[in-house]
Amino acid sequence: MTTDLIAIVGANMAGACAARALREEGFSGEIHLIGAEPHLPYERPPLSKELLLGTTDPVQIQIQSEQEWEQQQVTLRPSSTVVRIDRSSGELELADGGRARADKVLLCTGGRPRRLALAGAELDGVVHLRTLDDSLAIRERLRPGASVVVVGGGFIGTEVAASAVASGCAVTLLEADDVILWRALGRELGAVLQRYHVEQGVRVETRTSPERIGGSSTVTHVVTTRRERIDADLVVVGIGIVPAVDLAEDAGLEIANGIVVNEHCETSVEGIYAAGDVANHPNPFLGCRLRLEHWQNAQNQGIAAARSMLGARDGFREVPWFWSDQYDLNVQMSGHAQPTGTLVYRGNPSSSSFTAFYLSAGAIDGVVGINRPRDVRAVTRLIETRQIVDPAQLADESVDLRKVGS
Ligand SMILES: Cc1cc2nc3c(=O)[nH]c(=O)nc-3n(C[C@H](O)[C@H](O)[C@H](O)COP(=O)(O)OP(=O)(O)OC[C@H]3O[C@@H](n4cnc5c(N)ncnc54)[C@H](O)[C@@H]3O)c2cc1C
Repeated sequence: MTTDLIAIVGANMAGACAARALREEGFSGEIHLIGAEPHLPYERPPLSKELLLGTTDPVQIQIQSEQEWEQQQVTLRPSSTVVRIDRSSGELELADGGRARADKVLLCTGGRPRRLALAGAELDGVVHLRTLDDSLAIRERLRPGASVVVVGGGFIGTEVAASAVASGCAVTLLEADDVILWRALGRELGAVLQRYHVEQGVRVETRTSPERIGGSSTVTHVVTTRRERIDADLVVVGIGIVPAVDLAEDAGLEIANGIVVNEHCETSVEGIYAAGDVANHPNPFLGCRLRLEHWQNAQNQGIAAARSMLGARDGFREVPWFWSDQYDLNVQMSGHAQPTGTLVYRGNPSSSSFTAFYLSAGAIDGVVGINRPRDVRAVTRLIETRQIVDPAQLADESVDLRKVGS
């Protein structure tokens, strides 16, 4: 069957990068990029950083301009939600009653913020951060002197806390576990970052969650599981996302923590592909399946899916990488933090510039750089090849990391 029209559902990082890649790879048919949001595709990372701080604006975070989309002959269909994939006719049904034909479909539907299921969670001033509109609404409320309660010490929560402190707010961060950022960075490094947040003025309450949120129509306070009442003008809930799989599930695709795909981004149904935050893919370097919520994964998996739709068989192979910016710290991580692994430091972990390597069986599973992006880049190849390394060389600042293991 020839492919004349490719429809991409979800017009954010993965979807936009896939659309662009289809043209770059020489696809001459129609490309429809269908997205529920009213905006041109944009970058989400600034939503919790520069946009909240007011140092950038919505136009600057667009992935590319409207003219560029026109030049590439990509048909953008904003404010359009796909509600059903009709597998018998090969058509997509839209929420407004319209239909769209497609020879192949790429699902890049991402995720939606997980919500708190407790009294007061629907009050005005209890918000989540996923979209441009969410970020602009939060920015309005980050006034000097405002009391902000952040629920969840993951990356979204900690970045919002940092931006809120910088905006002059009084910030309390509630984390259910005993340390923030433990899931991504491991407990020891989570504790290092936690100390930094406290030094910057965030009140971090661990092993604590909200029990109820109070106020008449607008939030006024949070009562915690420790029975403490905390005044709040704004509550930002950052407790993770739920992959947006409804459409895929309804179409009979295999679902397990997201849409299950193979290394070519193919789902269990021929002609339907998935990429980005919604896709659960096999990672050859880490030897397991992963559903990542990282910008680079969304970008490169979207590109890989586009190539795969056009017949390429090289597949998506990448060591996971992400970054976060909080205060004056640039945090980058490649690979993953093995909870049973050994941690080796290069530089002083009490300072604001050091690198930490996670090792198991003599090889590097993951590397975290605090204001050390070059170190992270240098060792990614060692994670790929699982070379046995000498921990003393990793720790020794005088050894060039690019030469370790070679
Ligand atoms: C505030 C914030 C800060 C971040 N910061 C970083 C960072 O510093 N570093 C990093 O590595 N990563 C960061 N990320 C993560 C990164 O932005 C995501 O991994 C990336 O945006 C995922 O892209 P995606 O296209 O897969 O999914 P999404 O960005 O979730 O996009 C999915 C799109 O699909 C649309 N959609 C869903 N269902 C339908 C439907 N049925 N019909 C039509 N449209 C639909 C949605 O409206 C949405 O626009 C951040 C994310 C957020 C929210």
